[in-house]
Amino acid sequence: MNHNELWQSVLGEIEFEVSRANFATWFKHTAIQDVQEGTVIISVPNAFAKEWLEKKFHKQILRSLRTNSPLIRNASYLVVAGDTPAPVIKKREPQLETADEQLEFKEFSIDRETNLNPKYTFDTFIVGTFNEFAHAAALSITKNLGSLYNPFFVYGGVGLGKTHLLHAIGNQVKKDNPGYKILYITSEKFVNELISVLQNREPLQFFKEKYRSIDLFIIDDVQFIAGKAKSEEEFFHTFNSLHERGKQIVFSSDKPPGAISKLEERLRSRFEAGLTADISEPEFEARLAILKLKAATKDFEPPIEVLEYIASIIQKNIRELEGALNLILAKSKLKGKLLGLEEAKIALEQLNARAKKIVTTAQIIKAVSEFYDLGGEGLYERSRRREVVKPRQITMYLLREDYHGSYPFIGQKLGGRDHTTALHAYEKIARELKTDVKLVEELKLIRAKIYES
Ligand code: ADP
Ligand code: MG
Repeated sequence: MNHNELWQSVLGEIEFEVSRANFATWFKHTAIQDVQEGTVIISVPNAFAKEWLEKKFHKQILRSLRTNSPLIRNASYLVVAGDTPAPVIKKREPQLETADEQLEFKEFSIDRETNLNPKYTFDTFIVGTFNEFAHAAALSITKNLGSLYNPFFVYGGVGLGKTHLLHAIGNQVKKDNPGYKILYITSEKFVNELISVLQNREPLQFFKEKYRSIDLFIIDDVQFIAGKAKSEEEFFHTFNSLHERGKQIVFSSDKPPGAISKLEERLRSRFEAGLTADISEPEFEARLAILKLKAATKDFEPPIEVLEYIASIIQKNIRELEGALNLILAKSKLKGKLLGLEEAKIALEQLNARAKKIVTTAQIIKAVSEFYDLGGEGLYERSRRREVVKPRQITMYLLREDYHGSYPFIGQKLGGRDHTTALHAYEKIARELKTDVKLVEELKLIRAKIYES
């Protein structure tokens, strides 16, 4: 058995043992470089993959190597930069200017025709249990355009990687299918374009044609379209026209289709007709992995304790994780050296205070009202309409659970109700949360809103 055959055989076994997403992420561009005195040297594309394979998959790899070739004693991993440029951590003081410049340049090099940001690819997308399903589905879509899951609808809270994943799909498809017409757009932009066409009394025909000639249509933050009748209608026809001709459509939203209020029923049922996948909150390991990758792409290597500390204090938003990392990077730049844990703690104190922020009643009320699209008075209304009863009960639940208000206080706060009403509401929601997955999901998204604000 030569090196390549041996590795293929190992990969064949491992593929069955790990999730598809993990396999695609961590074993891509790996090979056996050499075998020296019983130690197999495995080449990997970047420092990050090296660490991950060492920490998470070493046992499996070694076991499988040994079953195939019993003389093998050990395995080690070697970073070999391949054809896909991968972030390589360099051992030196941060060269901050250049790293920043490069990053900015990339940010601005958005493809004019597709609106795709080349920075957001599958290669730079970390997979953990929190987004494994959405990631695997997205990957398989790029290989089965229009035929497997159409539309593909991904949802989740703020800063959890929806936009990144959407661009990754687009960038991958662009790479694999050079002739394809791809368009990424936020639904807000779609709405604004339509408004401008209508205001300027331009013929709608060009607008229609533009959107109906696309092969892959990616719409970000589609919830924004809800309640805008003319846009919803135009969008509906665009959707149908593309869908009938087997063109792939991908959506993202901050909530599942069923929870987007004011959305036309016919659109909701279209959104739900394909595959729906959620991205939840990243677990600690994933947060740490993301920080490592982001640091490496900036050629920045803070001590691991600092990264662990950041990952431990920021839990619900990947954009904030990056923000904290950038702060440390900026402070290091100022000091001309890497910060140690204690210095980093001081630098992050501000952010930490925000992460641990005590919520106010106003934040809870605002988040619930916005989530269920209730106007200013909605929650206080003296009404038993289902549309307001449930949000009101959820508000009461949150006022108890997250704000720790007393029942009399909560009743008072929500339009002068008595404490038993508040108590019942709390208990009812607490009970339902044990069985109603949809409610669990909604509460998660509402909390994301509260703690994000
Ligand atoms: P959303 O659209 O859900 O609000 P974004 O896609 O804009 O979130 O992600 C916010 C930031 O976090 C981006 O810089 C993105 O690159 C990063 N990010 C999110 N998820 C991941 C991930 N799984 N791996 C690496 N970076 C991620
Ligand atoms: Mg987004």
